[in-house]
Amino acid sequence: LPARYAGSEKSVWVEYIQLALEHKPLNLGQGFPDYPPPRYVTDTLAEVANSDNCLIHQYTRGFGHPRLVAAIAKLYSKLIGREINPQTEVLTTLGAYEALFSSIIGHVDVGDEVIIIEPFFDCYEPMVKTAGGVPRFIPLRLKETKGKTLPTSADWVLDKQELEGLFNTKTKMIILNTPHNPLGKVFSREELEFIADLCKKWNVLCVSDEVYEWIVYKPNKHIRIATLPGMWERTITIGSAGKTFSVTGWKLGWAYGPANLMVNLQMVHQNCVYTGNTPIQETTAISFEKELTRLDSDECYFNSISEELVSKRDYMAKFLTDVGMQPTIPEGGYFMIADWSPLESQVNLNSEKDKYKDYRFTKWMTKNVGLQGIPPSAFYSVPHKPLAENFVRYCFFKKDENLQKAEEILNQWK
Ligand code: PMP
Ligand code: GLN
Repeated sequence: LPARYAGSEKSVWVEYIQLALEHKPLNLGQGFPDYPPPRYVTDTLAEVANSDNCLIHQYTRGFGHPRLVAAIAKLYSKLIGREINPQTEVLTTLGAYEALFSSIIGHVDVGDEVIIIEPFFDCYEPMVKTAGGVPRFIPLRLKETKGKTLPTSADWVLDKQELEGLFNTKTKMIILNTPHNPLGKVFSREELEFIADLCKKWNVLCVSDEVYEWIVYKPNKHIRIATLPGMWERTITIGSAGKTFSVTGWKLGWAYGPANLMVNLQMVHQNCVYTGNTPIQETTAISFEKELTRLDSDECYFNSISEELVSKRDYMAKFLTDVGMQPTIPEGGYFMIADWSPLESQVNLNSEKDKYKDYRFTKWMTKNVGLQGIPPSAFYSVPHKPLAENFVRYCFFKKDENLQKAEEILNQWK
């Protein structure tokens, strides 16, 4: 194995999806809905598949299917408040993963430092290392929330001095994720301004992973860091059709930003996959066109999805609390982390061999109780993994019936 991959051998997804296949638990692990996406989206896919234009099944433009980059540019021009050029300022990719990969490989050189906020979506670290970069980590920490019943994701905060201390002349990039996986944190304007000011002061790029941009619970609002003064020039923003239309198996993503930054992503993309899936891009383009006509309406999927999910979030928070865990209420996204340590006496942690307790807890639960969650230490650098040992991450984008089943499973166990 090349040295640059050392330490990247394990993937929580590979391990836990295999575990789910073997033990068939109720799976609240990997994030995806267990019920159909919007009907018009799947109807459109069928229409595209059988359309008279047989070329829709052949290769399309490498940097993005023309109809899709046009729709993406139109949508984000509106949201960012500037004209985005569909040819030069948008790239479509194989999932947000490839957009992240192209952004990182296309900009980070050997020895460059990249600031990563913990917990982080686990692929950021190996991608930075593959580029020869040096990840510098800073954890979000849960504030004391005395007197309040439950913490929210807003209670997980960065220490400003610690963040400031990480920036230096070697810093090339910071990777931001808002709404955040796994905490559900929706960064506030004030927090984003602090980050933006440091990026400007140290001439640092911001890669902003905003795949959960439409899943934000009232009264929180998603703010795109690219809209802050002086930030368009230094920001690459990433989105995902998988999250936007609840079709994670489509693996279609995109990145947008200024042309001088996007050329580097295009270069990585053209020499790796060259072009993406045409029918999926066509279907996503048509779906965007439909949503663009009703952005301000409750019918718009970008607005209705959070309404659909908020009751699931609240239901999960209640049953986790009732069973004795302490969940953090997410402001966005479809994951919830919970402190399970009050139940430690009911778990046989010695039956598993993993180093970190959250791995042992989630494996034991999968095998013995029939409920799967994800161990959040997977989202931390080695020195900081102990910070996550008392937590588990559950996904609540599931049929109500399956959330009820999760509640029953936990109650029977307890
Ligand atoms: N970033 C975050 C924060 C995610 O949760 C995910 C989930 N898959 C991705 C990126 C990757 O998205 P995709 O499935 O479109 O590759
Ligand atoms: N984003 C999803 C999650 O966090 C999917 C992860 C994956 O496919 N690797 O569960």
